[in-house]
Amino acid sequence: MPPRCTICTHPERDGIDAELAAGATYMGVARTYEVGPESVRRHAMNHLSPALAAVRAAHEEKEAADLVTRIEGLIARAEVMFGAAAKDGQSKQALDVLKELRQLLELWGKATGQLDDRPTVTVNLMASPEWLAIRDAILGVLCAYPEARTAVTGRLLQLEAGS
Ligand SMILES: [Zn+2]
Repeated sequence: MPPRCTICTHPERDGIDAELAAGATYMGVARTYEVGPESVRRHAMNHLSPALAAVRAAHEEKEAADLVTRIEGLIARAEVMFGAAAKDGQSKQALDVLKELRQLLELWGKATGQLDDRPTVTVNLMASPEWLAIRDAILGVLCAYPEARTAVTGRLLQLEAGS
């Protein structure tokens, strides 16, 4: 039998649930009610009623949006600083700001989901059925023009060999 949830059986469970729904952090709730943050996390993930969980999710979404807004503010400021440093000919400073900007943009990309650093699948175009069909069609038409066909075939073979 799995261990009982100390939050579900907590005398102030309603208060804990209300705080979680309002977007309180696990640490904050744990401190207020003197319970373990890990118990709070587990309870919030698994035992909140669907309605309360939805309210909490809405809070988390808003927080993510706030984060994006703040990052965008930093980016705007860094861009101004970069412009000023570049204008004054302070190349060392400009370069430093540029590095910060790069990190901010990366952060922004991750926060907005535009930059997905999960591994992606590389499609090998040369091996795709679509390409093989196109290639056969081209070479088929070029049968009427042997010289062109030879030239095209030679170049395609080079491409397929990776050069
Ligand atoms: Zn629970």
